[in-house]
Amino acid sequence: MSTAYHDLLEATIQHLEGLQTRGVRHVAVAPETLRLLAQPSGKISAPPAAKIAPQPISMPSQKTAAPVQPEIFTTPVSQSAIRNPQSAIEKAAVFAALRERALACIKCPHLAASRKNVVFGVGNIDAQIMFVGEAPGADEDEQGEPFVGRAGQLLTKIIQATGLSRADVYIANILKCRPDTPGQSAGNRPPTPDERATCIPYLQEQIDLIQPRAIVALGATAVDGLLGKTIGITKLRGNWQTYRGTPLMPTFHPSYLLRNQAMREKRKVWEDILKVMDKLEMPVSEKQRNFFLKA
Ligand code: URA
Repeated sequence: MSTAYHDLLEATIQHLEGLQTRGVRHVAVAPETLRLLAQPSGKISAPPAAKIAPQPISMPSQKTAAPVQPEIFTTPVSQSAIRNPQSAIEKAAVFAALRERALACIKCPHLAASRKNVVFGVGNIDAQIMFVGEAPGADEDEQGEPFVGRAGQLLTKIIQATGLSRADVYIANILKCRPDTPGQSAGNRPPTPDERATCIPYLQEQIDLIQPRAIVALGATAVDGLLGKTIGITKLRGNWQTYRGTPLMPTFHPSYLLRNQAMREKRKVWEDILKVMDKLEMPVSEKQRNFFLKA
């Protein structure tokens, strides 16, 4: 069995088990999806994305110790699946197929040769909020997951401060491979314009499938990569932008906050996140509203 087929099957089984634990007993499956799943190993091709119905409601996992949240944030994922199980399964299948394509990508031969893992993305494919960073670093390359190093731990704290968890949102990068640094045993470099242009279609497809209600672009590379803007992040942050119809909030990259520990810089990022929470009508407690106001 090919890895692609195996992963697709795994994703589908996981999704069905999730529905089952939430009480769903029957699902309607389109003939096209059945055909896809029945294909022998190595022959999977995704159905056209246009067939996928929008999934506007996505929810935090029930593990999250969040403040009391309005219905839109507490309805479990399965509610949208129950309303439209066919498209939920198709979405999972298309997303798994996209992942397989990215994992096998060798469009940048130098990165394909130097990487340990393709860092596709992680989280809820029905997420309302998507975080986009620059590119994997050494830790991410090692583990195959975005934002797991020091900057990632800070991003996780920021996400948790909203009342959500990493599993509730989706996290990805402009570049799916770690930028190589030939001749250096450590260090990072930003992606080149060519690398960005080659890789961005994967991210675009992820965004088109997930259909988040807001994107948080972390740092200049993410903003430039998505919007093609080269205005400095210091000027742009905190001001709503639009990425192909989706509201996009530019903010500082967590690694900037690691370099500059000043409370007022943390507050700036938090204010940007509060704007996202407000736009999505998430509940914000007085305590949350005042984070990082005074030392
Ligand atoms: N920085 C990024 O931009 N992305 C990661 O995944 C990790 C660090």
